[in-house]
Amino acid sequence: MVDVLSLDHIAMVKSHTSRQRRRDNCIIKLVTWSMVHLIGMWWPPQGSLGGALHAALFLFLAGGTLYYFLQSLLEGPGFVPLKWRPRKEEDTEHLQFCTICNGYKAPRSHHCRKCGHCVMKMDHHCPWINCCVGHANHCYFTYFLIFAVLGCLQAAIVLSICMYHAINRAWYVQSGVRAPRVLLTLPTLLLTLLAVGMCLGVVLAVGALLGLQVDPPVGPACAAPPTLLAVGMCHGALLGLQIRSILRNRTTIEDWILEKAVSRREEAGLPPFQFPYDLGWRENLKFVLHGHRYDGLSWPVRPGCHEFDLTREQRAQKEDKRLRSRLYTATAPYSGRWLPLRGWPRAALAPPCTDEPRLPLAPGDVVRATRQRKQWLFGERLVGAGEARGPRGWFPRDAATPTDCKLKPD
Ligand SMILES: [Zn+2]
Ligand SMILES: [Zn+2]
Repeated sequence: MVDVLSLDHIAMVKSHTSRQRRRDNCIIKLVTWSMVHLIGMWWPPQGSLGGALHAALFLFLAGGTLYYFLQSLLEGPGFVPLKWRPRKEEDTEHLQFCTICNGYKAPRSHHCRKCGHCVMKMDHHCPWINCCVGHANHCYFTYFLIFAVLGCLQAAIVLSICMYHAINRAWYVQSGVRAPRVLLTLPTLLLTLLAVGMCLGVVLAVGALLGLQVDPPVGPACAAPPTLLAVGMCHGALLGLQIRSILRNRTTIEDWILEKAVSRREEAGLPPFQFPYDLGWRENLKFVLHGHRYDGLSWPVRPGCHEFDLTREQRAQKEDKRLRSRLYTATAPYSGRWLPLRGWPRAALAPPCTDEPRLPLAPGDVVRATRQRKQWLFGERLVGAGEARGPRGWFPRDAATPTDCKLKPD
């Protein structure tokens, strides 16, 4: 049964033309084109059984990549129903409330402002598929990355050998050595070189993350610089992240929550936080592979833990953040420009490196600031008497002035 949210999701996916997705298609097209063009010269599939099997392996990996890419895109992450409430009324005191969806956030769910809904077991919003990776498409997304990385490994080896043969073609012809005759013009040689670079980027990043145990960069893992090598490395980094995340049954967002939990509990002298959803790597693996057994709203927990342990910790962190926040009143209008060179040149020269929104301000607006950079503040505009939540975003520090003391709890 297709519910309203799924229809919303499909409409959103269809209507949104994402630059990143075009870039991703560009990688798939370039690598596939290079392989099809060169395999025919290097090891023609019609010439031998080995050649046919080799070509079939590449088509299988390329087909699998495309299939799981579309599956994770069309399936979507799974959204918490609008106005959702837990079955037992007393459970609401352990949960956060989403004012945009007008409902409670189920355990492990988070609101994604790009998708516009609360997402079940949200991992991250991925520009490659232009939607979130969450409960329902986690498995497909991981398969997409596995197929893409294996395809790139094969392509990196084959294209490198083909380039070697193409560069030494004249020598092979003159010496009469029996070797495949690979012919590349300058443009096709450059394109093949680019494809090899992307494929190697993918493979090396996986090696770095899985073999050397290097921690990946924190933050939205997909938002890498728009160079093709970096794009390739981003795929590999994502696969490393996904495998780590599956084996721990911990999403990227939960990693940040746990990091904050450690410092918060140390400061408060509380015992260390036990992550309730880590059931051991075997169970964790089954958990993602058989994710459809769960409804995305409640989850099994390890012995000794409670189903609301994480949401209670989130609420405590939020309260902590609120107590540390400060009220600011806007003294000058700010249009929401990312680089406000005319009004605040110092802020324009040091913009926050994030794709989070900017918050337009009019004089007199009151904002609750929760984060700061040297020239910028991040906060939420207070609406009405401060009870309702307004838009959030970054604004230049000089556009507002602090309203004296730190906030006290209500
Ligand atoms: Zn929401
Ligand atoms: Zn999203």
